[in-house]
Amino acid sequence: MQGKKILVTGGTGQVAMPVAEALAPDNEVWCLGRFGDPAARKALEEMGARTFTWDMSTDELAELPGDFTHVLHSAVHRGDGKDFAETARINAAGTARLMTHCSGAEAFLYVSSGVVYNRADSTHRYREGDAVGGAVPWLPTYPVGKLAAEGVARGLAEALGLPTVIARLNIAYGPYGHGGVPMILFKQMRKGQPCAVPRQGQNYCNLLHTDDLVRQVPLLWGAAGTPARVVNWGGDEEVGMTDLLEYMSELTGVPIQLDRSDYSRETAIFDHEVRRGLIGDCSIGWKSGIARTLAEVFEEYRDRIDAHVIDAHVIDAYADEQAAEQGAEH
Ligand code: NDP
Repeated sequence: MQGKKILVTGGTGQVAMPVAEALAPDNEVWCLGRFGDPAARKALEEMGARTFTWDMSTDELAELPGDFTHVLHSAVHRGDGKDFAETARINAAGTARLMTHCSGAEAFLYVSSGVVYNRADSTHRYREGDAVGGAVPWLPTYPVGKLAAEGVARGLAEALGLPTVIARLNIAYGPYGHGGVPMILFKQMRKGQPCAVPRQGQNYCNLLHTDDLVRQVPLLWGAAGTPARVVNWGGDEEVGMTDLLEYMSELTGVPIQLDRSDYSRETAIFDHEVRRGLIGDCSIGWKSGIARTLAEVFEEYRDRIDAHVIDAHVIDAYADEQAAEQGAEH
């Protein structure tokens, strides 16, 4: 993508920072946020992005130019778990302010989440039309904020004629920001804290490496439409969360304590048909992506991880298979 004027929210976050970094050299990228962490703002500016202070809970956008061609709205107010009204208001109002300000854009991408699904069954592959409105015990306000913003995105896509795509992200991970749920869990393992898993079986998810995510953002913009298009956004593979913990332990030697209880951070697996039809497959296998991310984020384990994955054919088997399959189809 080249020569576009791109607005990014959540640019200091795990998901949008690598996107801003990838797009800044060939486009005019503006990152909006509160920038409580001046180092994160500086990092964005050093990548070549412009920064603009904006708190989506309060601030209008009158001082910001309006001629953006593409918008990536990744900022989120997850809430404190208790104030549902304020969480809904902040996410809805922020999305409305952005969409009205950028109503002439070619495409608006709202980063939603798989938490919106009513996730009663850990083995069901959720489709875009499935029931929403599930409870999230670990942060009950979060799905309310995401659904409120989705509603605004759907409504304003049509009212403004602004081509929009609502991408429900599964679990993204990579070397940026908090690193995603896998790195958060690994930090817990390093501290000797137990990781909560279900009493029986395990939770499953579709891990998406940020390299795939970065590559897919322009493709998702290309899929924007009116009415807004909703698409599940996750990695191709179904990964067991307990398998993930065990693999991270195997790679690093850090022991895991599994806390088998009624309460675990439940995840969801997606049906990929819509996503595959719009933007195609992913390219990074989860084992290879996790090994690479751990080695980048936690340098002290790099030698051990490198030694462990020395047989790269085993680690990259999945990516190789994907490439072979795609080659056979063409
Ligand atoms: P982070 O927690 O890493 O970052 C959150 C971002 O939101 C920060 O850049 C922050 O910027 C910005 N933000 C928060 N409050 C405000 C506010 N009031 N005004 C303006 N900006 C604000 O988020 P992630 O990168 O992990 O997530 C990005 C998006 O992806 C979110 O919408 C999230 O719901 C979604 N998602 C993420 C998943 C993942 O695996 N990471 C999974 C599913 C969905 P600042 O502090 O500078 O204001």
